Amino acid sequence: MSSKYSKIGLKAGLEIHQQLDTREKLFCSCEPKLFKGEPEFTFVRRLRPTQSELGQVDSAALFEFHKGTRILYEANNESVCLVEMDEEPPHDLNREAVEICLIASLMIKAKLVDEIHVMRKTVIDGSNTTGFQRTCVVALNGEIDIKGKKVAIQQVSLEEDAARKTGKDGQLIRYRIDRLGIPLIEVTTAPVIYSPEEAKETAFAIGRILRATRMVRRGLGTIRQDVNVSIRDGALIEIKGVQELELVSKVIENEAQRQLSLLEIRDELKKRGVKEADITEDFVDITHIFKQTKCKVIAKAIKQNKPVLAVRLSGFAGLLKKQLALGMRLGAELAGIARFWGRVGGIFHTDEMPAYGVTAEELNQLGRLLKKDSMDAVVFVADKLENATDALKAVTERARVALKGVPEETRAANPDGTTKYMRPRPGAARMYPETDVPPIQVTKAYIDELSTRLPELPEQLMKRLMKDYKLNRKLAKQILDSEYLELFESLAGETKISPTVIVVAFTETLKALRREGINVKAVTDGQFREMFRLIGSGKTAKESIPEILTWLASHEEATVKDALKSLGLGMISRKELEELVDDVIEKNSEFIEARGKGAFGPLMGIIMKKARGRVKAKLVKEILKSKLDDAIS
Ligand SMILES: [Zn+2]
Repeated sequence: MSSKYSKIGLKAGLEIHQQLDTREKLFCSCEPKLFKGEPEFTFVRRLRPTQSELGQVDSAALFEFHKGTRILYEANNESVCLVEMDEEPPHDLNREAVEICLIASLMIKAKLVDEIHVMRKTVIDGSNTTGFQRTCVVALNGEIDIKGKKVAIQQVSLEEDAARKTGKDGQLIRYRIDRLGIPLIEVTTAPVIYSPEEAKETAFAIGRILRATRMVRRGLGTIRQDVNVSIRDGALIEIKGVQELELVSKVIENEAQRQLSLLEIRDELKKRGVKEADITEDFVDITHIFKQTKCKVIAKAIKQNKPVLAVRLSGFAGLLKKQLALGMRLGAELAGIARFWGRVGGIFHTDEMPAYGVTAEELNQLGRLLKKDSMDAVVFVADKLENATDALKAVTERARVALKGVPEETRAANPDGTTKYMRPRPGAARMYPETDVPPIQVTKAYIDELSTRLPELPEQLMKRLMKDYKLNRKLAKQILDSEYLELFESLAGETKISPTVIVVAFTETLKALRREGINVKAVTDGQFREMFRLIGSGKTAKESIPEILTWLASHEEATVKDALKSLGLGMISRKELEELVDDVIEKNSEFIEARGKGAFGPLMGIIMKKARGRVKAKLVKEILKSKLDDAIS
């Protein structure tokens, strides 16, 4: 255990969601396939959560939030039917999906339930047309081994994936329901993870087991993690939607740091003598100050007859711009909360002023009106009176909580490992039975039968990879952790290329390209297959792999032959090579005279550089040797 994190009492738990590679969706026969381009049809629904459905969720807030919100659902016929549209009851549970979950559960030694019951879990954001997500517990109390420590798995569930958000225009949110109903396995660990590194290892270990079933989907968005993080004196924070396993440790590091910084702010406020009663909801209309403003946002709002409302945060000067963790500031936290509760675009605050066209003179006037002294900060918002008021109420409330420390909340993960405020943390999810779907018995005979055909566990698989393909441990582990294990095994069986070359392409090469910002996930299995086939048959060299993949990543429908043609990466003929060698020998005649046979190495280097990726070194050696001998004699 890392002493740094044990000192601050870090505790984390993971929820891993992985799409299953079934032929059909969980409750209908639609193909689990996402579509690109324009939807074939759309329909609009209004969000109408009822008091009873909301349960312990802060219902007043959510009513307010959803007031007037409409959802535009986008669909096409191939991946959507009446079930996703909530026009027809769900069909029976997909048995294939159930079986994959049972197998994964047995692999982590979890206890299978006797009977699988489908439940409804309320969702409040419109991501399900029904207003709830269907979910069922499949197994309980498993464990996985992380470097000798048993990490407890609390439960394994089978769930339907939600619709994916594709945009938002004001009060209209767009969701694409092709993803709705794709089966997901959810693996939940106990909060027994004590360092970011351990969390990452646990996430990878679970990912490895799920992939070892050979029945999970791959590609961006097919695996998503939620992370729960707390530190001593901090709060339990739920972070949603970590898209890459590699990001798990970074998200936890940042969250631990964010909570530590919020505790520092709490202590600083105490030191400054700030009391809860000092932070009041005395909102001041300061619209007149900005009648001639150069600030575009404010000028536009005023033109639309929206007021500018301000509130003083006593004793907060300098704290709003304080960096909590990488790229996260208290000011941004307040803005996130203002957006959620007030539906405003954002907030202004004096810690980041003068800026955005707001002048020092405007700030002076604002300071006088708000009775701001040098230790205070002022937050202001330009929006409809109702929205601006709600936003500032939320800001003052959040500022008061800063005196206590860290508020419990749900946050959303960004792709860079930072997080942002998403919504208040709901109470325990309220579940109620889905009466339209009959339960499934899990008999002992079925369990026994499944137990006889469990897939290889990751450790066994790794040993076999090392043995069968003569991979070293590092490469075997890398391909095991990649999404390309199956493709690798099938390619290794059908081409003559060394398995090591294929693994390096799928792991190190892709990683390096990804770091350069190349969207390697766009390269299809078919393109990989063609590339290795062409390398295997000598049409191009393995050295060309990075260039070919880079080109393919931005040419979706193209073939590898197109890539070779466009990049000039076809193999050069023997005749061309001989001409190249002649040319190099001629240009370096003095050097050859001086060095004799010792010129071989440097000349080889020159030729390989010129013909990189288009020639086999062995052939160059052979031709150069013979021609060099002729030249010397
Ligand atoms: Zn369907």
